[in-house]
Amino acid sequence: RAHQSTHGIFLPRLVASLEQVDQTYIMIKPDGVQRGLVGEIISRFERKGFKLTGLKMFQCPAELAEEHYKDLSAKPFYPKLIDYITSGPVVCMAWEGVGVVASARKLIGSTDPLQAEPGTIRGDLAVQTGRNVIHGSDSPENGKREIALWFKEGELCEWTPAQAPWLRE
Ligand code: ADP
Repeated sequence: RAHQSTHGIFLPRLVASLEQVDQTYIMIKPDGVQRGLVGEIISRFERKGFKLTGLKMFQCPAELAEEHYKDLSAKPFYPKLIDYITSGPVVCMAWEGVGVVASARKLIGSTDPLQAEPGTIRGDLAVQTGRNVIHGSDSPENGKREIALWFKEGELCEWTPAQAPWLRE
């Protein structure tokens, strides 16, 4: 009987748990902070239904910005990018959920805010690539890498939101 009930009741849960839970690193850049968009941006992720697992604010040192954007170090705009990211405080966030990396990229919109669709964060709130208010990891691997880069051990929070059973069957 135990065997039967395992199949009857718990198999759907087992299948659901096979869906990959990902993490993404989201950062409100200094222009987003200076323009008072922090609450607006965090709200969009909260309302979507993702889980916030890390949140802090600080002005990041150049070394950290350089490490974060090291893949772009050969680009002509790289020095300006490092100046921009270190020009004021940023808000660092870790968000978790099934499909969160790709979904966050959709919520954020295209790199160039003039190309970004209305309804997206960049499409609604920004006008230039060099001031595009927000960063989001581009793959689950980079999500993990960037969260490990920007957060220290003990800064992330394991918790179960009360709304969990109302978000996913
Ligand atoms: P995304 O942030 O959309 O993943 P990229 O990884 O291509 O975009 O670039 C990282 C960041 O570098 C962009 O968000 C933007 O802040 C900056 N950037 C990219 N291209 C340019 C550019 N042509 N001029 C100025 N800044 C740029």
